[in-house]
Amino acid sequence: MVNLNRRGIQVDVLCPICKNEEEGVEHAILSCELAKAIWSKWRDSPGNFLESKCDMFDLALTIISQGTQCDLEIFFGVAWAIWYHRNQLIFEASKTTADQVWGTSIRMVEYFKTANNSAAAGKEKHARDWKPPPEGFFLINVDGAIPTEDGHSGIGIVIWDWESQIVAAISMPLSRKFAVEKTEALAMEKGAILAFDLGLENVILEGDSLQTI
Ligand SMILES: [Zn+2]
Repeated sequence: MVNLNRRGIQVDVLCPICKNEEEGVEHAILSCELAKAIWSKWRDSPGNFLESKCDMFDLALTIISQGTQCDLEIFFGVAWAIWYHRNQLIFEASKTTADQVWGTSIRMVEYFKTANNSAAAGKEKHARDWKPPPEGFFLINVDGAIPTEDGHSGIGIVIWDWESQIVAAISMPLSRKFAVEKTEALAMEKGAILAFDLGLENVILEGDSLQTI
């Protein structure tokens, strides 16, 4: 919206939540009143979200260097949930509290970890075989998790560089339960979109389902 306004197209640039400031991605996810209230619930976070003027990318790098894998999962889970609830407010007029968004984020991260752990035994060999991509390339590892009973499928994406450093990581639930092949295909699609958004050109896409490779 802010970008459209800069190009002379008249749109409402005020944040739909606080109606105080122009709404950019950083404002919506990091510095809006609601976003701050949500991040403040993360008591042992490795970065200082409430005071620093970092952007998303800087914060992700801080967490990768100072935090744990679990911190990184929480960071992307909460960021995704804040954006999701912002869209729900705009398009569905559905209001939520900071407690609800925080609860959704943590449940989503926990759910995804549980779903992944249950499939981990069969993947040990795969993990041992893992190698970083050739120099100059990025490796996109994608995975889908299917609930055994009712519930939503979930997907996870990790992008690595050739020095085995994580460039980006995302986990998210899907809108409903999908079959294994469909879930893996959706994970691959999201992984390709993420790589495109990050401007990565030399990429290798890797998943577990041979049918979608
Ligand atoms: Zn705001």
